[in-house]
Amino acid sequence: MTSRVCASLVILFFLLVGTVSPSLCEELKTRYATVQYDDIALLQKFNDELYLGRQLSLQVRQQKAFTIQDELQNKLNIIVEKVETVLDMFPAKLYVTIVLLPSSKEVQEVYFQKYGKRVDHVAYYSLGEKTIYLSVRDVNLSVLAHEVGHIVVDHYFQVRPPYKIHEMLAQFAEAHVND
Ligand SMILES: [Zn+2]
Repeated sequence: MTSRVCASLVILFFLLVGTVSPSLCEELKTRYATVQYDDIALLQKFNDELYLGRQLSLQVRQQKAFTIQDELQNKLNIIVEKVETVLDMFPAKLYVTIVLLPSSKEVQEVYFQKYGKRVDHVAYYSLGEKTIYLSVRDVNLSVLAHEVGHIVVDHYFQVRPPYKIHEMLAQFAEAHVND
């Protein structure tokens, strides 16, 4: 779909539905995820906001990157692999969708539309959809490591652990991603 057609459909969608549902027309495929976004500026901002800290940034700089897409792919690969190491869980197959949204308002609106509940999340991982919804304005290494923690746990266990254990492991990944 061309972006002009896409933009028209987006406008039509907003007129018809009148909601802030994301209309995602662009994709970046990485080793572990398809990143969906509706505007290259959002992808650029995601890459800009996502600072990996001193130690992991060193790894980022050691990898070839000619475009922001390359750099972002490298960062995402590094985070996933670091979280796997932190949790000592290496699922054979791990692949998800990451939906970029401009702010927490859109994340919370998506959550409300799906679950009918008001939350204050800046990001969340849908186990059913294998998808992270993420506010680009609020993203940082901790936020992403937490959600990636959920992804790794979700893909590692054949029987889903109780939610509290899921959450504890995601918090552990978040706390130790910089170790
Ligand atoms: Zn969590």
